[in-house]
Amino acid sequence: MEGLPEFERQAALDSGVQRDLLTLGVAIAAIVLFVGTGGSVMTWVIQFWSGNGPRPDVLLTNAMLLNVALIIFGWRRHKALTAEVIERREAEAQARYLSEIDPLTGCLNRRSIGKATDRLLSTASGNGQSVAMMMVDLDNFKQINDFNGHNAGDLILQECARRIRAILPDGALAARIGGDEFACAIPFDTRQLERIDQIAEAMIEAVAQPIEVNGVSITVTVSLGVARSDLRSLAIGEALDAQTLLHMADIAMYQAKKQGRNRYFWFEASMEAELKVRSELVAGIRSGIPHGEFVPHYEQQIDIESGELVGFEMLARWNSPTLGVVSPEVFIPIAEDIGVIGALSECLISQALIDAREWDSKLTLSVNISPVQLRDPWFAQKLLKILVEANFPPNRLEIEITESCLHENIGVVRTLIVSLKNQGIQVSLDDFGTGYSSLAQLRTLPFDRIKIDRSFVTDLPDNKESATIVQAITSLGEGLGLPITAEGIETPEVLDEIRRYGSFKGQGYHYGHPETAADTQRKLAGMNLIREPEAPLAKPVKKKAAAKTSATRGSRKRSA
Ligand code: C2E
Ligand code: MG
Ligand code: MG
Repeated sequence: MEGLPEFERQAALDSGVQRDLLTLGVAIAAIVLFVGTGGSVMTWVIQFWSGNGPRPDVLLTNAMLLNVALIIFGWRRHKALTAEVIERREAEAQARYLSEIDPLTGCLNRRSIGKATDRLLSTASGNGQSVAMMMVDLDNFKQINDFNGHNAGDLILQECARRIRAILPDGALAARIGGDEFACAIPFDTRQLERIDQIAEAMIEAVAQPIEVNGVSITVTVSLGVARSDLRSLAIGEALDAQTLLHMADIAMYQAKKQGRNRYFWFEASMEAELKVRSELVAGIRSGIPHGEFVPHYEQQIDIESGELVGFEMLARWNSPTLGVVSPEVFIPIAEDIGVIGALSECLISQALIDAREWDSKLTLSVNISPVQLRDPWFAQKLLKILVEANFPPNRLEIEITESCLHENIGVVRTLIVSLKNQGIQVSLDDFGTGYSSLAQLRTLPFDRIKIDRSFVTDLPDNKESATIVQAITSLGEGLGLPITAEGIETPEVLDEIRRYGSFKGQGYHYGHPETAADTQRKLAGMNLIREPEAPLAKPVKKKAAAKTSATRGSRKRSA
């Protein structure tokens, strides 16, 4: 029956069972007959064989033999049937196990957690208890998987599942409902809500202990969201089902991610509204990329000593048809989360290179890249392709890497910086002073420039702490031989103050706000900093034709 469709297999099994019940019936009837008549016929046969009696009736003897044969046949069939039923039950149990259990971790799976939680909810409410649903998501698991390989990733998931289950009390459920996402349903007494807090804290701590995988110690953290089944029933008297609880716990988990990961949050109704806004942004970003809604704006960069324009920083803007102009501080983190930052950034950089190609060749173009792009091993190649396609000289391009990136795998960052520099691209360290990078890191990474974060510059004349930091960064730059850009110069007073520290590049609202490509082009045209259109290339078609003619001539000569 192997390979038969399920319903046909079932029909075949059912008809087999009916046949076998018939066989069992026949065998039982044969036994009854044998008990009734077989006894006396058997005695005759034995007496005849031992020479002490008359020959038994042939018909009766045959009937008895047939009876015996039927009993043996019936018994064998009955045994075969029993074995088949046991085998079928085992197969059914195995199929149920496979459909309900995650094979990697042995936890329940996405399909089974819903029903199991609904059962738990009704048992708990019968016992006067509630159920807390915990959504547990490993932080940055994709990177861990990419860096250490998928086998190591599987071992980590198994170990995390083991630690999560070890924390759970008896009667709780644990399921793996996605790649690196677990859900736990825990019955609890509503008077002891702190029990759930304790479980959440213990879980975060247990998972965060280093995991040894193939001799490497790996640390994983989790973000956790919790929702309780009696919450809405408290408010509107409505019982919550498993799916709603999972959804609420997911919203709370997202909040934990947003607040910095490695922590837990209880679900609150206000989170739902926030999530709705976010899902609208997600949909808008996804559709906005192919529709060209993301555009570069340009902020001037000035040599503060001479006041001369030296280049521009490209800053992304989203012209959303429904939301208006949206700041990169809103859409960049979401684009990173949903995995479209690479595509978005490549579109923006391509467009910026086309715009900047028109500018005077002494003007540089700086672009920001996200930490997510730093982890892409093909980033340098992708950038080179964009440069070649735009026919833009790499030495006019500067890549800005934010200081917080240095907490990523430093080896990967160094490799990327080196390959960018090998292509002739400049690399600067953005928002310096906010990311707590160490001197050792700075020394080993071959940056071309440091950009002092605007938070230290904007309040310079009055704030003594900011002044100390700017002084320290200036000395550091001098020590390491790195030129400095000061961001956030908003007023002439700040500019005067900054000038006292050294000869920096500067940018900020004092010089102007970021502007569209068209406005930038107009401004540059006014300053005579737009390049003359390049002379058209010398007609390649004619050249080819000439080459062809001479080749033909040559061959004619040869043949002549
Ligand atoms: P950033 O690279 O540090 O860019 C400077 C930010 O400071 C810009 O904000 C700019 O408009 C703002 N700014 C400039 N001068 C002043 C000033 O005098 N005072 C004040 N208060 N602010 C000033 P914006 O455009 O909102 O960009 C914010 C951040 O978003 C950028 O910080 C950068 O990290 C990121 N970003 C922008 N475009 C991109 C992009 O294409 N890709 C990536 N990955 N990140 C981007
Ligand atoms: Mg920047
Ligand atoms: Mg910056």
